[in-house]
Amino acid sequence: MTKKNIQSQYAAFRAWQQRPYEVAPLADEEHECATCGTRYQGNYCPRCGQSARIGRYSAKTALQELLDQWGIGNRSLLRTIRDLILRPGYLIRDYLAGRQRAYFPPFKLLFLLTTVSVATAWLKSRLFGGAPVATGAMNVPEPAVDGSAQAFELGIRHVMEWFNRTQELFPNIFSLAITVLLTLGVYLFFRKAKAIPHLRFAETFIAMVYIANMTSLYDIVVQFLPLSSDLSMISLCLIVIPLKQLSGFGWMSTILRVAAAVVLDVVLFVLLFFLAAVVVGFIGA
Ligand SMILES: [Zn+2]
Repeated sequence: MTKKNIQSQYAAFRAWQQRPYEVAPLADEEHECATCGTRYQGNYCPRCGQSARIGRYSAKTALQELLDQWGIGNRSLLRTIRDLILRPGYLIRDYLAGRQRAYFPPFKLLFLLTTVSVATAWLKSRLFGGAPVATGAMNVPEPAVDGSAQAFELGIRHVMEWFNRTQELFPNIFSLAITVLLTLGVYLFFRKAKAIPHLRFAETFIAMVYIANMTSLYDIVVQFLPLSSDLSMISLCLIVIPLKQLSGFGWMSTILRVAAAVVLDVVLFVLLFFLAAVVVGFIGA
C-alpha cells in the first residue's frame, strides 16, 4: 500500500468517526397493525405502539423477545460497543446532542459491563488461580489505642485494608468507579470545550459513564492477556482519547487538562481518605 493510499484511507476513517449517526430513510410501505387495525407508514403503530415487524412467530422473533426482556436485544448494543472502541468521544457528542435512540443507554451498559466483569474476574480466578484474597486483617500487630495519634493510625490502616481488598476482588469495578469519580475535575477543566458550548455537570457525568464503559471493555479483554501491571493506570491514560474527541481540544491541551483534573481529584480523594480514617479510627474502631 502506498503512503498516499494510507493517507486517504485514514482521512476517510476520520470522516466516518466524526459523522453523526444517521437513521435509514423511512420506507413508504403501508402496514396494518395486527393489534388495533390502524393503517400506517413506519416501524411502529402510532396508536398502540406495536412493532410493524410482528407477524407469524418464529425462532428469530422468540429470541428477539427474550433478549428484549433483558433490554439487550436492540442492535444499538453492538453499535455502541463498536463506537466506544473506534469513536468514543463522537459517540458521546451524538448522545449529548439528543441522538439517544442510536446508542445503548449509558447506565444500563454500566450495569451490564459490571456484571460481565464480575463474571470474567471469577472465570479468570478459576482458570489461572487469581491472587489469594486476604480474609482476615493484615499480619501487622495492631497498636494499642491510647491516644488520638494511634486512633488515627488505626483508622488509616482499616480504610487502606478495605480499599486494597476491594481493588483485589473487583479490579474492573474499581477502575470504573475511579473514572466516574473523575467527573468533578473533568468538568472543571473541560466545561469550556470548543465542541460543546456550556458543557453541563450532568452532561460531563454522562460522558464519564460512557468513558468508564469504554475502559471497562478494554479491562475485560486485557485481563486475559499475560500482563500483570497496574491496569487502572492504562485505563486512566486511555481516557484522553474520548475527551479529546468530545471537547475538540488539541492533544497537548487535552493531556494537560486530564492531568490537572486527575491531580485535583487525587487531592480531593486523599482528603476524603483521611476524613474516613478519622471517622473509622475514632468512632468505628
Ligand atoms: Zn396498533
